[in-house]
Amino acid sequence: MSRLYKTEGVVLRHSYMGEADALVTLCTPDRGKLRAVARGVRRPKSRLAGHMEPLTYCTMMLAEGRTIDIVSGCEARDSFQGMKSDLWLLSCGLYAADLTDRLSAEGAENRPLFRLLLDALHSLSGGIDPALVLRYFEFHSLACCGYLPELWECPVCHRKLEATTNYFSPAAAGLLCPDCRGKEGLDRPASVDVVKVLRFFARNECSALAKLKLKPRLAREIEDLMQGYVTYVLDREVASAKWLRELRADEQTTKVPVNLVGGQLPVGTGPD
Ligand SMILES: [Zn+2]
Repeated sequence: MSRLYKTEGVVLRHSYMGEADALVTLCTPDRGKLRAVARGVRRPKSRLAGHMEPLTYCTMMLAEGRTIDIVSGCEARDSFQGMKSDLWLLSCGLYAADLTDRLSAEGAENRPLFRLLLDALHSLSGGIDPALVLRYFEFHSLACCGYLPELWECPVCHRKLEATTNYFSPAAAGLLCPDCRGKEGLDRPASVDVVKVLRFFARNECSALAKLKLKPRLAREIEDLMQGYVTYVLDREVASAKWLRELRADEQTTKVPVNLVGGQLPVGTGPD
Protein backbone atom coordinates (compact mmCIF):
# COMPACT_ATOMS: atom_id res chain seq x y z
CA MET A 1 0.00 0.00 0.00
CA SER A 2 1.42 3.37 -0.97
CA ARG A 3 2.35 5.84 1.75
CA LEU A 4 0.15 8.91 2.15
CA TYR A 5 1.46 12.34 3.09
CA LYS A 6 0.02 15.81 3.48
CA THR A 7 1.50 19.06 2.20
CA GLU A 8 0.49 22.55 1.21
CA GLY A 9 1.39 24.16 -2.07
CA VAL A 10 0.66 26.63 -4.82
CA VAL A 11 -0.27 25.17 -8.21
CA LEU A 12 2.25 26.54 -10.73
CA ARG A 13 0.90 24.85 -13.83
CA HIS A 14 -1.00 21.89 -15.04
CA SER A 15 -1.21 20.03 -18.30
CA TYR A 16 -3.79 17.53 -19.37
CA MET A 17 -3.16 13.80 -19.54
CA GLY A 18 -5.71 11.77 -21.45
CA GLU A 19 -9.36 12.74 -21.15
CA ALA A 20 -9.72 13.33 -17.45
CA ASP A 21 -6.35 13.54 -15.69
CA ALA A 22 -3.88 16.36 -15.22
CA LEU A 23 -0.17 16.54 -14.46
CA VAL A 24 0.17 19.23 -11.82
CA THR A 25 3.33 21.14 -10.84
CA LEU A 26 3.30 22.64 -7.35
CA CYS A 27 5.54 24.86 -5.26
CA THR A 28 5.61 23.42 -1.74
CA PRO A 29 7.48 24.62 1.34
CA ASP A 30 8.90 21.25 2.40
CA ARG A 31 9.36 19.38 -0.89
CA GLY A 32 10.30 22.22 -3.24
CA LYS A 33 8.88 21.74 -6.70
CA LEU A 34 6.54 18.76 -6.76
CA ARG A 35 4.92 17.07 -9.75
CA ALA A 36 1.89 14.89 -9.20
CA VAL A 37 -0.99 13.38 -11.12
CA ALA A 38 -4.54 14.53 -10.35
CA ARG A 39 -6.75 11.71 -11.58
CA GLY A 40 -10.19 12.56 -12.91
CA VAL A 41 -9.73 16.26 -12.18
CA ARG A 42 -11.40 17.25 -15.45
CA ARG A 43 -14.61 15.39 -14.67
CA PRO A 44 -17.32 17.81 -13.50
CA LYS A 45 -18.09 15.77 -10.39
CA SER A 46 -14.44 15.30 -9.37
CA ARG A 47 -13.76 16.28 -5.74
CA LEU A 48 -10.48 17.80 -6.97
CA ALA A 49 -12.08 20.01 -9.64
CA GLY A 50 -11.76 23.69 -8.87
CA HIS A 51 -9.10 23.10 -6.19
CA MET A 52 -6.17 22.52 -8.53
CA GLU A 53 -6.31 25.35 -11.02
CA PRO A 54 -3.02 27.21 -11.59
CA LEU A 55 -2.33 29.88 -8.95
CA THR A 56 -4.40 28.19 -6.26
CA TYR A 57 -3.02 27.79 -2.75
CA CYS A 58 -4.17 24.44 -1.43
CA THR A 59 -3.66 21.69 1.12
CA MET A 60 -3.29 18.23 -0.40
CA MET A 61 -3.07 14.59 0.49
CA LEU A 62 -0.83 12.65 -1.84
CA ALA A 63 0.03 8.99 -2.28
CA GLU A 64 3.62 8.13 -3.10
CA GLY A 65 3.81 6.41 -6.46
CA ARG A 66 6.61 4.40 -8.02
CA THR A 67 7.37 7.06 -10.62
CA ILE A 68 5.10 9.97 -9.68
CA ASP A 69 2.89 10.80 -6.71
CA ILE A 70 -0.90 10.85 -6.97
CA VAL A 71 -3.14 13.56 -5.50
CA SER A 72 -5.75 11.79 -3.39
CA GLY A 73 -7.40 14.86 -1.87
CA CYS A 74 -7.15 18.61 -2.18
CA GLU A 75 -8.73 21.64 -0.56
CA ALA A 76 -8.26 25.17 -1.89
CA ARG A 77 -7.23 27.67 0.81
CA ASP A 78 -6.99 30.76 -1.40
CA SER A 79 -7.83 31.13 -5.09
CA PHE A 80 -6.69 34.78 -5.34
CA GLN A 81 -9.87 35.76 -7.13
CA GLY A 82 -8.99 39.47 -6.97
CA MET A 83 -6.00 38.68 -9.18
CA LYS A 84 -7.72 36.15 -11.45
CA SER A 85 -10.57 38.50 -12.34
CA ASP A 86 -8.14 40.81 -14.17
CA LEU A 87 -6.22 39.57 -17.21
CA TRP A 88 -3.15 41.71 -16.53
CA LEU A 89 -2.90 40.72 -12.86
CA LEU A 90 -3.50 37.09 -13.75
CA SER A 91 -0.71 37.27 -16.34
CA CYS A 92 1.62 38.78 -13.73
CA GLY A 93 0.76 35.90 -11.38
CA LEU A 94 1.48 33.37 -14.12
CA TYR A 95 4.87 34.97 -14.73
CA ALA A 96 5.67 34.63 -11.01
CA ALA A 97 4.60 30.97 -11.19
CA ASP A 98 6.70 30.43 -14.32
CA LEU A 99 9.76 31.96 -12.69
CA THR A 100 9.24 29.83 -9.57
CA ASP A 101 9.00 26.75 -11.79
CA ARG A 102 12.29 27.61 -13.54
CA LEU A 103 14.21 28.50 -10.40
CA SER A 104 13.12 25.78 -8.00
CA ALA A 105 14.37 22.23 -7.79
CA GLU A 106 12.27 19.12 -7.31
CA GLY A 107 12.48 17.67 -3.81
CA ALA A 108 14.60 20.53 -2.42
CA GLU A 109 12.94 22.27 0.54
CA ASN A 110 12.66 26.02 -0.06
CA ARG A 111 10.33 27.63 2.46
CA PRO A 112 11.39 31.23 1.72
CA LEU A 113 10.52 30.82 -1.98
CA PHE A 114 7.12 29.31 -1.15
CA ARG A 115 6.38 32.15 1.31
CA LEU A 116 7.56 34.74 -1.25
CA LEU A 117 5.25 33.33 -3.93
CA LEU A 118 2.28 33.46 -1.55
CA ASP A 119 3.15 37.05 -0.56
CA ALA A 120 3.39 38.06 -4.23
CA LEU A 121 0.02 36.49 -5.08
CA HIS A 122 -1.61 38.20 -2.08
CA SER A 123 -0.05 41.52 -3.15
CA LEU A 124 -1.27 41.13 -6.73
CA SER A 125 -4.76 40.42 -5.36
CA GLY A 126 -4.51 43.27 -2.88
CA GLY A 127 -4.01 46.20 -5.21
CA ILE A 128 -0.24 46.76 -4.95
CA ASP A 129 1.38 48.00 -8.19
CA PRO A 130 1.85 44.71 -10.12
CA ALA A 131 5.07 45.88 -11.83
CA LEU A 132 6.64 46.53 -8.42
CA VAL A 133 5.44 43.17 -7.13
CA LEU A 134 7.12 41.43 -10.08
CA ARG A 135 10.42 43.29 -9.65
CA TYR A 136 10.37 42.48 -5.93
CA PHE A 137 9.54 38.88 -6.77
CA GLU A 138 12.40 38.63 -9.27
CA PHE A 139 14.84 40.10 -6.75
CA HIS A 140 13.85 37.82 -3.88
CA SER A 141 13.18 34.63 -5.86
CA LEU A 142 16.75 34.86 -7.15
CA ALA A 143 17.93 35.56 -3.59
CA CYS A 144 16.02 32.49 -2.29
CA CYS A 145 17.90 30.35 -4.82
CA GLY A 146 21.40 31.61 -4.00
CA TYR A 147 21.62 34.69 -6.23
CA LEU A 148 21.18 37.54 -3.75
CA PRO A 149 22.88 40.51 -5.42
CA GLU A 150 25.48 42.52 -3.47
CA LEU A 151 24.22 46.11 -3.21
CA TRP A 152 26.49 47.79 -0.68
CA GLU A 153 30.07 46.83 -1.44
CA CYS A 154 31.78 46.38 -4.80
CA PRO A 155 32.36 42.60 -5.12
CA VAL A 156 35.70 43.17 -6.91
CA CYS A 157 37.56 45.82 -4.85
CA HIS A 158 35.37 45.50 -1.70
CA ARG A 159 35.05 49.26 -1.32
CA LYS A 160 31.77 50.67 -0.07
CA LEU A 161 29.71 51.87 -3.04
CA GLU A 162 29.42 55.62 -3.44
CA ALA A 163 26.20 57.50 -4.20
CA THR A 164 26.95 57.74 -7.90
CA THR A 165 26.14 55.71 -11.00
CA ASN A 166 27.40 52.19 -10.33
CA TYR A 167 27.15 49.16 -12.65
CA PHE A 168 25.08 46.05 -12.13
CA SER A 169 26.96 42.95 -13.17
CA PRO A 170 24.99 39.68 -13.45
CA ALA A 171 28.27 37.74 -13.57
CA ALA A 172 29.55 39.34 -10.35
CA ALA A 173 26.04 39.12 -8.81
CA GLY A 174 26.07 42.69 -7.65
CA LEU A 175 26.90 46.33 -8.16
CA LEU A 176 30.39 47.16 -9.34
CA CYS A 177 31.97 50.54 -8.62
CA PRO A 178 32.84 52.69 -11.68
CA ASP A 179 36.52 51.65 -11.41
CA CYS A 180 35.74 47.92 -11.53
CA ARG A 181 33.01 47.85 -14.13
CA GLY A 182 33.60 44.96 -16.48
CA LYS A 183 34.29 45.12 -20.14
CA GLU A 184 32.15 42.21 -21.31
CA GLY A 185 29.14 44.41 -22.06
CA LEU A 186 26.70 42.76 -19.66
CA ASP A 187 27.17 45.42 -16.99
CA ARG A 188 24.35 47.89 -16.87
CA PRO A 189 24.48 51.41 -15.40
CA ALA A 190 22.50 51.63 -12.16
CA SER A 191 21.60 55.17 -11.16
CA VAL A 192 21.42 56.30 -7.55
CA ASP A 193 17.62 55.94 -7.68
CA VAL A 194 17.82 52.40 -9.10
CA VAL A 195 20.17 51.42 -6.26
CA LYS A 196 17.80 52.96 -3.70
CA VAL A 197 14.89 50.87 -5.00
CA LEU A 198 16.95 47.66 -5.01
CA ARG A 199 18.03 48.35 -1.42
CA PHE A 200 14.40 49.00 -0.50
CA PHE A 201 13.56 45.55 -1.94
CA ALA A 202 16.39 43.97 0.05
CA ARG A 203 15.32 45.51 3.36
CA ASN A 204 11.53 45.29 3.25
CA GLU A 205 8.64 42.88 3.26
CA CYS A 206 6.50 42.63 0.14
CA SER A 207 3.64 44.54 1.82
CA ALA A 208 5.91 47.62 2.12
CA LEU A 209 5.70 48.03 -1.69
CA ALA A 210 2.41 49.84 -1.07
CA LYS A 211 4.54 52.83 0.06
CA LEU A 212 6.54 52.95 -3.18
CA LYS A 213 5.62 54.77 -6.36
CA LEU A 214 8.06 54.86 -9.26
CA LYS A 215 8.21 57.12 -12.28
CA PRO A 216 7.76 55.09 -15.49
CA ARG A 217 11.38 55.58 -16.60
CA LEU A 218 12.79 54.35 -13.28
CA ALA A 219 10.35 51.41 -13.30
CA ARG A 220 11.58 50.47 -16.79
CA GLU A 221 15.26 50.72 -15.76
CA ILE A 222 14.64 48.34 -12.86
CA GLU A 223 12.65 45.98 -15.08
CA ASP A 224 15.50 45.85 -17.63
CA LEU A 225 18.08 45.29 -14.90
CA MET A 226 16.15 42.56 -13.08
CA GLN A 227 15.13 40.73 -16.24
CA GLY A 228 18.71 40.87 -17.48
CA TYR A 229 19.77 39.20 -14.23
CA VAL A 230 17.01 36.57 -14.45
CA THR A 231 18.00 35.77 -18.04
CA TYR A 232 21.66 35.51 -17.05
CA VAL A 233 20.94 33.14 -14.14
CA LEU A 234 18.59 30.91 -16.14
CA ASP A 235 20.70 31.19 -19.29
CA ARG A 236 17.52 32.01 -21.21
CA GLU A 237 14.65 34.44 -21.11
CA VAL A 238 11.54 33.30 -19.24
CA ALA A 239 9.01 32.91 -22.06
CA SER A 240 6.19 34.49 -20.10
CA ALA A 241 8.26 37.68 -19.60
CA LYS A 242 8.14 38.23 -23.37
CA TRP A 243 4.47 37.33 -23.36
CA LEU A 244 3.83 39.94 -20.63
CA ARG A 245 5.57 42.65 -22.65
CA GLU A 246 3.43 41.83 -25.68
CA LEU A 247 0.28 41.87 -23.58
CA ARG A 248 1.27 45.23 -22.09
CA ALA A 249 1.78 46.65 -25.58
CA ASP A 250 -1.69 45.38 -26.58
CA GLU A 251 -3.28 46.73 -23.41
CA GLN A 252 -1.90 50.19 -24.10
CA THR A 253 -4.12 50.30 -27.18
CA THR A 254 -7.15 48.41 -25.87
CA LYS A 255 -8.19 47.40 -22.38
CA VAL A 256 -9.70 43.93 -22.55
CA PRO A 257 -12.13 43.12 -19.73
CA VAL A 258 -11.82 39.44 -19.00
CA ASN A 259 -13.49 37.53 -16.24
CA LEU A 260 -11.79 34.22 -15.68
CA VAL A 261 -13.24 33.47 -12.29
CA GLY A 262 -14.39 29.88 -12.32
CA GLY A 263 -13.33 29.55 -15.93
CA GLN A 264 -10.44 27.79 -17.55
CA LEU A 265 -7.21 29.67 -17.16
CA PRO A 266 -5.38 30.41 -20.39
CA VAL A 267 -2.57 28.16 -19.45
CA GLY A 268 -1.71 24.53 -19.73
CA THR A 269 -0.77 26.46 -19.11
CA GLY A 270 1.20 29.59 -19.89
CA PRO A 271 3.62 29.73 -22.78
CA ASP A 272 6.49 27.30 -22.60
ZN1 LIG B 1 35.28 48.17 -7.25
